[in-house]
Amino acid sequence: MILSNFAKKMKIQENISLKEFTTFKIGGIARFFCTVLNEDELIEAIGFSKKNKLPFFILGGGSNILISDNGFSGIVIKMEMKGIEYTEVENGKKVQVKVGAGENWDDIVKETVEKGLYGLENLSLIPGTVGASPVQNIGAYGSEVKDTIESVYVLDVIKDEYKTITNSECRFDYRYSMFKEDPRRYVVLSVNFILQKNGKLNYDYKDLKEHFAFKNIREPSLKQVRDAVIEIRTRKLPNLKEYGTAGSFFKNVVTSTAKGKELLTKYPDMIVHAVNDKKVKIPLAWILDHICGFRGVKIGNVGTYKNQALVLVNYGGATATDITNLAQKMVDKVYEETGIEIFPEVEWVE
Ligand code: NAP
Repeated sequence: MILSNFAKKMKIQENISLKEFTTFKIGGIARFFCTVLNEDELIEAIGFSKKNKLPFFILGGGSNILISDNGFSGIVIKMEMKGIEYTEVENGKKVQVKVGAGENWDDIVKETVEKGLYGLENLSLIPGTVGASPVQNIGAYGSEVKDTIESVYVLDVIKDEYKTITNSECRFDYRYSMFKEDPRRYVVLSVNFILQKNGKLNYDYKDLKEHFAFKNIREPSLKQVRDAVIEIRTRKLPNLKEYGTAGSFFKNVVTSTAKGKELLTKYPDMIVHAVNDKKVKIPLAWILDHICGFRGVKIGNVGTYKNQALVLVNYGGATATDITNLAQKMVDKVYEETGIEIFPEVEWVE
């Protein structure tokens, strides 16, 4: 009986423009809007949505969403639950780090690296909040957040109870977790990470290897790996202060080995990475750039970034419709040229 038992204390605002809450700088009006700093406020906000039979949407950093021009007719709940607790485990070899869902992701990466804790360094500078990290199992440069998550503490809105969901129960996969199956059921309150005091760095990923070879660094430190990731990402991705964007708009392609072979016959220069003996991963940016000619295009006030065709950009004043029109053109062209269906990584909100 958590959700029916709330005191009315929090301010719920009406008719709030969502544009400034997203990194795309796009979005209509939220019928209701509130910011939650703790569990009581979250319960009140969700209780309000249940009582008024309105949908709710949990807003984190707004970095991986595209909000409809028509806005959201329910209540947008901005997750601002903060806090970070460090506990030594396994005779001090590892550290459990419990982090509030509303903490900024990169602030946590920075802080843990400064404390000499290994595990999150390759995931530096990914925009967004900690609460969003398990949902799509964020990953970059050969690391995935699933490898550091012990458990995720959630509110199950359907069963009306708090739950600790263990790593295996999360059913993590490539940019996937069970939270994706039922996006409005679980609200992440905090994430428990297990980080290593004397961990092993992973700098095998091509971009990182090249970076350290170029700088003549043979055995980089934890801090140098974080700095390298920051440098590479800054070079490849647009500055959020300059452009409206949600980063990679589409998921990279995972397809059958047979399809990979077929495409390699047609495009011998294409980059194809084996995932296992049945599947391959193809960088979608390569297809968009070399086959479809989509790198750096500009149509009206939208386009793709000059250094990375996977990244859609709002050059100022674009609407969600402008973005979806361009995205649809890209989907159609990739299918026409390769027979591959591509899917947005960015979540559509309406
Ligand atoms: P990239 O390095 O050009 O790689 C493009 C694609 O090729 C990715 O799917 C990548 O897999 C795959 N790949 C590269 N080397 C591989 C290898 N040795 N074996 C198997 N697959 C390989 O990617 P990018 O666009 O510049 O992005 C850099 C990193 O940031 C990538 O790791 C990308 O996944 C990550 N990223 C993550 C998110 C997110 O979590 N939402 C969003 C944008 C970018 P992986 O994806 O497994 O690396």
